[in-house]
Amino acid sequence: MDTEVLIVGGGPTGLTLAIDLGLRGVRTILVERKEAPAFLPKMERCNARTMEIYRRMGIADAVRAAGLPAHCPMDVFIVLSLARPPLVHLPYPSVAQAKEAIAASRDASEPLEPYQLISQYTLEPLLKSIAEKIPSVSVRYGCELLSFTQDRAGVTAMVRGVGGATSQISAPYLVGCDGGSSLVRRQLGIALRGEGNIMALRQALYRCEELYERIPIGKGRHYHVADDRATQLIVQDSTRHFTLHSVVEQDSDMAGMFEKTIAMPLPYEMLYVGEWKQNLLLADRYGEGRVFLAGDAVHLVIPTGGLGMNSGVGDAIDLSWKLAAVLRGWGGPKLLPSYEIERRQVGERNVAASRHATLGRRKWRAAWRPDIADDTPQGAATRANLARIADVEQRKSNEMIGAELGYRYVGSPPIATEPGEGPAHDFMNYVPTTWPGARLPHVWLSDGRAVADCIGYGHGYSLLRLGGTRADTTAFARAFAATDAPLQVLDIADTHARDLYGYDLLLLRPDLHVVWRGHSAPREPGALAALATGH
Ligand SMILES: Cc1cc2nc3c(=O)[nH]c(=O)nc-3n(C[C@H](O)[C@H](O)[C@H](O)COP(=O)(O)OP(=O)(O)OC[C@H]3O[C@@H](n4cnc5c(N)ncnc54)[C@H](O)[C@@H]3O)c2cc1C
Repeated sequence: MDTEVLIVGGGPTGLTLAIDLGLRGVRTILVERKEAPAFLPKMERCNARTMEIYRRMGIADAVRAAGLPAHCPMDVFIVLSLARPPLVHLPYPSVAQAKEAIAASRDASEPLEPYQLISQYTLEPLLKSIAEKIPSVSVRYGCELLSFTQDRAGVTAMVRGVGGATSQISAPYLVGCDGGSSLVRRQLGIALRGEGNIMALRQALYRCEELYERIPIGKGRHYHVADDRATQLIVQDSTRHFTLHSVVEQDSDMAGMFEKTIAMPLPYEMLYVGEWKQNLLLADRYGEGRVFLAGDAVHLVIPTGGLGMNSGVGDAIDLSWKLAAVLRGWGGPKLLPSYEIERRQVGERNVAASRHATLGRRKWRAAWRPDIADDTPQGAATRANLARIADVEQRKSNEMIGAELGYRYVGSPPIATEPGEGPAHDFMNYVPTTWPGARLPHVWLSDGRAVADCIGYGHGYSLLRLGGTRADTTAFARAFAATDAPLQVLDIADTHARDLYGYDLLLLRPDLHVVWRGHSAPREPGALAALATGH
């Protein structure tokens, strides 16, 4: 075999997967058909969960250094233009302010890291450069997957490199992170279902040196224009670049829309115009046999709420340690199949969350009337009515912290079951829980460290012994050792953490999702060790 994992696609999902596999020492080849990362606008916000994941991978600081400066507000406005008083102003903390709030938090309701605005065209080259420095990872741009075959032993891929020469790459596993029109998904015959081509918009990228400093109504990240064209201006990470989305007839109209929106005679350059379509689609399956799918290859959401790339990062991080576990021999036969069980349900919920946010946005946009800008009592009434609805409905796009942090894997074989349903999923609210399957809530210890930071990266499983418990867990550690899976037993005497987690013992997986919780040592240690490792 040429490598252990072959990744197809160097978008944020494929690159995150390559880095994480590389950090786990897995030999990985990533092929990307583009010759270099493109300077094209797409996503611009890593959510709190993605930033927590990047912190664990040791790259959060690099992402922040390349992204929007920490002091810049993340406010969202609904406007007629940048020159008129906003109809709605929703303030959101800058990264610096959010970090202060997190530092001061004493409960488990905050993420360990706040969001970070970083344009996809900045993030991708950064992730590429990080992946390229990892000795076990080979990043090959200008290399396109043409087809693949799989049998019981592995996958053989036919690729075309720079210059057009074709060659084969063989690996035990292939992961298709090749985006919405995924060749890997199509070759597996897996369908996307849901609503496709909901709306076609044009998106343009502009460079305008002076705009950000001159916006009279206040600095923010999104300026939604209350018009009948779904127009939206988005500040990019440099604060010198902006994107505008709008429903217009032709590319050249995007210049006029920008000028109308900013309503200030400033010099600017339009660097790119393209069309994109809104979709709410989910794949029937997340792979087959030795081939897996992740990211936009299996879920396409409307960017409203920013659950596209962020869901792809979640997929990558769920699949990565499972591939490593199976390749190293301690992962059982139920581990890799659990990837689809766990991540498809999140994909399904995130498509629903994106729909929920989009419907909210449509609701306030439906209050638009042609007289909205008029200096008449009717115009004022239209503005007031739209603002009243938007003040409620627009929040659905911006405040989905429950979808970001609160996802919990349900019905997955390597997660222990407890009687009852478990807490309900709620897009808009995050309620910390250690119910098996949940992300470990962030808690500060009295010595100032975060619990998550005490758990070494790449350590495998962790058994947290909280609040000075005397439970005898040696039989469990012995049972775990028999599976060959790495286990770290960590005594955290802090009673505050114990009280917030609600249990004396927590068993965590390498991705810091809870496998099991209890007050006393597991009654059947061998059975729990087998379950956790997918046997
Ligand atoms: C306007 C807009 C705004 C958005 N804003 C956000 C946001 O704020 N937050 C968010 O989370 N998401 C956002 N998204 C969604 C986000 O951009 C996507 O979810 C993200 O790019 C998906 O990453 P990916 O790596 O899965 O796929 P892609 O980024 O599509 O990457 C797939 C890669 O595979 C390569 N490839 C394809 N076929 C082959 C092949 N045969 N061989 C080799 N390589 C191949 C492609 O060249 C590409 O580089 C936005 C999207 C749009 C359009």
